[in-house]
Amino acid sequence: MAVELKAPALREYPVVPALQSDAMKDVVSYVANEKIQEAIGFPGKLDEGWQERAISKMGDLLGKYRSLRVFMDACVHCGACTDKCHYFIGTQDPKNMPVARQDLMRSVYRRYFTTAGKLFPRLVGARDLTRGVLDDWFRYYHQCSECRRCSVFCPYGIDTAEITMAGREILDAVGYGQKYSNEIIGKVHRIGNNLGLPGPALRDTLLGLEEDVKDETGVDVRYPLDEKGADVLLVTPSADFFAEPHVDSLIGYGKVFHAAGISWTLSSYSSEAGNFGMFIGNYEQLRKIAMRIREAALELGVKRIVVGECGHAWRVAYSFWNTLVGIGAGGKDPFAIELQRQLDPRHKQPTHICELTWDLIERGALRFDKDANDHRTITFHDSCNVARGSRMGDAPGGQFEIPRNIIRAVANKFVEMSPEVTRERTFCCGGGGGLLTDELLDLRIKGALPRMESLKQVVDNHGVNFMATICAICKAQFTKVLPYYGFKMSMVGGVHQLVSTAIRLGDSH
Ligand code: SF4
Ligand code: SF4
Repeated sequence: MAVELKAPALREYPVVPALQSDAMKDVVSYVANEKIQEAIGFPGKLDEGWQERAISKMGDLLGKYRSLRVFMDACVHCGACTDKCHYFIGTQDPKNMPVARQDLMRSVYRRYFTTAGKLFPRLVGARDLTRGVLDDWFRYYHQCSECRRCSVFCPYGIDTAEITMAGREILDAVGYGQKYSNEIIGKVHRIGNNLGLPGPALRDTLLGLEEDVKDETGVDVRYPLDEKGADVLLVTPSADFFAEPHVDSLIGYGKVFHAAGISWTLSSYSSEAGNFGMFIGNYEQLRKIAMRIREAALELGVKRIVVGECGHAWRVAYSFWNTLVGIGAGGKDPFAIELQRQLDPRHKQPTHICELTWDLIERGALRFDKDANDHRTITFHDSCNVARGSRMGDAPGGQFEIPRNIIRAVANKFVEMSPEVTRERTFCCGGGGGLLTDELLDLRIKGALPRMESLKQVVDNHGVNFMATICAICKAQFTKVLPYYGFKMSMVGGVHQLVSTAIRLGDSH
């Protein structure tokens, strides 16, 4: 019989929750089967000798990533991070405290990579890597959304997300991967997007959008696919092609390009901005997925690459694309050099869609009817990967200001949530980092608690009825969990959904 899932009660004054040992030990991701694992080049299953292979992989990572070794050594167990994780706050499981999540790996590190741990394991909290410990890794490294909030409060800047990524990389290396993320990565390699949406279906969807927008506005706004010679290649999360409310932002991007007279295209080969290679901490997968975007850009001959509303995609694009595949300065292979020659140096490469839209607004190239959004009182949820893993514009904090500037330019009623839970201190939606899967719904509902509490404050005090965000995962997660907290699922949407409502087509400069 299915268990009825319930949201925790919303608290008036958030306090550190009482501990409930092992509260989430039965909420476990599905393990990837052999077919899924082997399709992306990982061992199919946990075989004899896994322990030696796991320790060896850990040694490789400690050698490759100096930060990982520093994080293993530097923690002084001061406790500043303990109550900063939304999954701990929502679940009360002490293993979801960031420091405890780190200690799952730190105890093994001490046993095999420190002299004290080799000689006196009990004295220094060192443990053998047993099957039970590995199972705890799988369980609790898939109860971390790699959101990095805890690192903001750590006096040593220890980044639990990086430890989670290392944990997942070791798990994959011994054939113990997560079904959800690895299946999606396989789909991107085979078909080009996370949803497995083939090119013809994508073309039909875009033609349907053109008809819808024509019916709504009377204007021929185009949603082009595979058009060689277009100036802009837009890569956006594939959820934008059909899911609600995501598609409303895609409609908005098209209206912005139309109103500004910019030629643009999507690519059927590279129809996904998301990159789950980051979630599983695997550089080769990260690179292989990003490479499709470079290949599409070269094939289509575009001058500029623009990324749609997707939090982790923007983190990968902003922080890694240059050295990963040579989009932006950094790549040294012949194709990267060719791409640099092709892309227009007057533009930031890559550009976030919010940077593009805000730049057009500042230059007076777009016109809006702000009153069209008057049925909405809007707040903004900073998505964790944008807030703590990237930037926008030329000034520090641009990733916070630019989306807010756009909202203020297209709507009259905007309200901030508390400064304790926005900008760099924002809470994850509860579904990021490869956790947006049904078997983790209980975790996702509970992990959303802190954001739901701050939302309730602005709903009660200011009548907020719309929470804007620029992340496909946040949109999908909130749509699912809002009703558990008594909110309407339709109160979440994209910044470009608001742009779409207010923009005046055929009225631009
Ligand atoms: S989910 Fe975020 S806050 Fe929690 S441990 Fe992971 S990175 Fe830290
Ligand atoms: S805040 Fe940093 S040093 Fe303190 S317990 Fe957490 S990870 Fe360790």
